[in-house]
Amino acid sequence: MKITVLGKGVVGKSSLTYRFINFNAPEEHDPTIEDRYKTTANINGSDYEIEILDTAGEEDFQNMIDMWISFGEGFLLVFAINEKESFRLIRGKYDRIIKAKHGDKTVPILLVGNKLDLEKERTVTFDEAKQLATSLGIEYMETSAKNNFNCKEAFENLAQKIIDSKKSIPKPNPSPCPCCNII
Ligand code: GDP
Repeated sequence: MKITVLGKGVVGKSSLTYRFINFNAPEEHDPTIEDRYKTTANINGSDYEIEILDTAGEEDFQNMIDMWISFGEGFLLVFAINEKESFRLIRGKYDRIIKAKHGDKTVPILLVGNKLDLEKERTVTFDEAKQLATSLGIEYMETSAKNNFNCKEAFENLAQKIIDSKKSIPKPNPSPCPCCNII
């Protein structure tokens, strides 16, 4: 399955991804334009291959956002709980996903408030983030990539939503055999 990680720059998208794929984060790295990773994860007892597209959040790369959205079957929408602006930008990114998915509001999306370890610098309350998520019909989780808190859980939660969404796609009606009319 394919996951796209979206959000403003420096909110911790790469750090969260590194936690999920068990990659030792470099002390410093170039801001991502886009990086692709493959990993295997056990979701509810079954192994799945997961491709992750970790994207840039900066305005310079906004012309690539539709390509990143078309890659994803599910989306982590990430902001930092200590950066109001990153939260303010979430709604626009959500709208862009839904528009690119032809208005399908069942597309699996998880809202993630990262940098939970910076609770003392929090400017986005749990309640306002939860309220936004509820109004969009999606779930909200808080993580700390620094403390490795809830990172795998966030990806696994989204992966489960992707699995569920694939199960709920109706199968086409089987056609009867033309000679005996048996289905
Ligand atoms: P990206 O641009 O969204 O991919 O963000 P990065 O993963 O590159 O992280 C940007 C900066 O935030 C880096 O200095 C990270 O070490 C730091 N960072 C990422 N996640 C956390 C976190 O959960 N807590 C804290 N305190 N810093 C974090």
